[in-house]
Amino acid sequence: MWSVQIEDVEAIDIECTTFCNLRCPECLREIDKDWVGSVLNSTHITRENCEEWFNPDDLVNFNELRFCGAIDEAAANPHLFDILNYFNEAFVPRYEHLTNNGAGFFIDIRTNGSLKTTAWWEKLAHILPPNHRVVFGIDGADEVSEIYRIGSKFKKVINNATAFIKAGGLAAWQFIEFEHNEHQIEEARQKSIDLGFRAFSVMSSSRSDRSGDVKHVDVSSIKPPKSDSVIMKAGKKERIEITCENQTVMGKRILINSLGLVTPCCFLNGFIHMPFNYKMKNPENDPPFYFSEPVWNKIWQKHPDTALSLHHNTLKEILAGDFFSDIETSWKTKPIERCYEVCGKRVVDSTKYLFKNE
Ligand code: SF4
Ligand code: SF4
Repeated sequence: MWSVQIEDVEAIDIECTTFCNLRCPECLREIDKDWVGSVLNSTHITRENCEEWFNPDDLVNFNELRFCGAIDEAAANPHLFDILNYFNEAFVPRYEHLTNNGAGFFIDIRTNGSLKTTAWWEKLAHILPPNHRVVFGIDGADEVSEIYRIGSKFKKVINNATAFIKAGGLAAWQFIEFEHNEHQIEEARQKSIDLGFRAFSVMSSSRSDRSGDVKHVDVSSIKPPKSDSVIMKAGKKERIEITCENQTVMGKRILINSLGLVTPCCFLNGFIHMPFNYKMKNPENDPPFYFSEPVWNKIWQKHPDTALSLHHNTLKEILAGDFFSDIETSWKTKPIERCYEVCGKRVVDSTKYLFKNE
């Protein structure tokens, strides 16, 4: 069984729309558009969806909502304020007694900041609960930011962020570092202070995922296992140990994607988007690359297309179901490659294993 059941869930990432106005070259929307292309700019999650999916009586430990997925710009969802109001009504009051200590129900929104008007951003600041953060992705100290954020306008982003901050919003500036903008990091950091951002962070453009800070993951030292989860190295028996980020360091966290599919984490969300889209929308196309990844392929093929869908199951049923259970079971035998890449490490094995070939 998946270790995070509904009563354990502390944090939910929500990819609240399939819409985005930009064309960032490293985004899943661009690099995997053959597989996700047909769902892009097609659907939004609504307040009614959230009322049906997120029941406060079940989610007894839920205290953090993060708007962050693989293909979405939250401000593109016309229902965003209605969704926020649902969480304000259903979950924020539960933690109100903690608000004075800087705690309380936390809402985090990741955005490119280039949509809507300054009045919309002022309103957002007033709707968000006291414990919130809006992270603006601005990859430069001036129009240089438009090189990667294709389709954005630096001046508009800064005006929107400034309006949000002046209305009482708590903002952070996230800067993705590339060769073309690294010389502007200090200038951008100073600008963030001058404009009243509460935090400034730099993220490497070479990280293995584009939706979270994974600096602690040394991707270069991790290669997927060739055969199974027990290997021999320099005469010592080693085994693969998986420490699932979304069951540990990231809090007990799940992700709901824009199609209403429940996924264990942002790292597997792309995998889950693509076969769904492949099977439903592109039957004539060649299979995506990971159909040659046997562990994932086996798990995916074993379950019906509806197994992870909140349009067909409750959140409680999905977390208690076999699909999630099979992912966790794989860690003890042969892990899904993506789990190994992101959350795996090799440890010297002190336990006794019986091998057929020993
Ligand atoms: S703003 Fe985000 S979702 Fe939109 S294209 Fe860029 S990385 Fe992708
Ligand atoms: S990649 Fe696998 S092990 Fe890592 S957070 Fe996701 S589900 Fe957990």
